[in-house]
Amino acid sequence: MNTSSSNLHQINHGQESLAPYAAHEDLSSGRLYPEEIAEYRSMYQRDRERIIHSAAFRRLEYKTQVFVNHEGDLFRTRLTHSIEVAQIARAIARALKLNEDLCEAISLAHDLGHTPFGHAGQDALNDCMREHGGFEHNLQSLRIVDKLELKYPNFSGLNLTFETREGILKHCSRKNADKLGQLGERFINRTQPSLEAQLANIADQIAYNNHDLDDGLRAGLIHVQQLTEVELFSSNFARVSSAYPQLSERRKIYESIRSIINELVNDLISQSADSLKNMSLTTIHDVRNETNSIIRFSDTMHSKNSELKSFLNKNLYQHYKVHRMSQKAKKIILDLYKSFYNDIKLMPSEYQESATNSQILKGDKGRARIVADYIAGMTDRYAIAEHERIFNAKII
Ligand code: MG
Repeated sequence: MNTSSSNLHQINHGQESLAPYAAHEDLSSGRLYPEEIAEYRSMYQRDRERIIHSAAFRRLEYKTQVFVNHEGDLFRTRLTHSIEVAQIARAIARALKLNEDLCEAISLAHDLGHTPFGHAGQDALNDCMREHGGFEHNLQSLRIVDKLELKYPNFSGLNLTFETREGILKHCSRKNADKLGQLGERFINRTQPSLEAQLANIADQIAYNNHDLDDGLRAGLIHVQQLTEVELFSSNFARVSSAYPQLSERRKIYESIRSIINELVNDLISQSADSLKNMSLTTIHDVRNETNSIIRFSDTMHSKNSELKSFLNKNLYQHYKVHRMSQKAKKIILDLYKSFYNDIKLMPSEYQESATNSQILKGDKGRARIVADYIAGMTDRYAIAEHERIFNAKII
């Protein structure tokens, strides 16, 4: 009977197990529209749940990074990628006593603003929008959670906490930062976001390097023999092969990749824990005053990881088969953009209304932004189908 509601709040939100420099919700910079604190759920738990219930999150299932969605059922999609990022980020957060709920919310939301067809789609849409402020997927993720999801009676967007929004906005140009108030400040002052945001960013890299390696090998676009030049892979593959000589190559690859992720994660935890021990960070505010990222690999692991990254860049992302698909994807985006921009009546009625009536975005710029919102929200298969419906021609 003596348990006061504030005690209950603390116990259930699990803040007592967090390091002092982690994101504690009592130091949160809050939500754009103030809300009551929930008794049994932390602020970041609620963010995560709002993200999972969003339409943009569900669409991640049919969006891809390297392989177009219909190329095979086994390839990663942005949904499975985001879940892998969240899982890696949570494991590291727990070891470093950082806020797991916040890490998970950032990880699950970090790719919401991506166009269909991965980077090819983003580049094409950015080209189309060049005279209208450009298109950047990080800013689009923020636009989705701040404005485009229409679910709640009292506000547009998901009204997420500052910390989740700060983590979503990984990069930002100086020009755009000027328009973002408190959220843009760190790009102007060149300071750091929360440790949880730094962590989600690296977990993203760990996840995509390794799953692209796995998907690339499975697709036959890269081969084990080529990977002898990549130390992270070759050392693990050699060890697995000598421990399990009878194992099929596919299972040796699985085991090697599992082991690479483990190596990267262990290095990241021990290097970051060492840095944190040698620094005198009292709260999240001290973290935000730092100019360099605190969550990082050791120098040795950093260069091993860069080697893997450059290998994928050269041999997978620029593979002629990937390039062919990217060119087709760019054509789809370009055709759709031109059609909708020149004749907004080709878009579904709610987008026509926004393009005509937008209070904030008027004129050509406003129309272009609504067209970009519509295209960016499409899944790979929806964009292909829209293109076929409008042009009556099959590209992919
Ligand atoms: Mg990602």
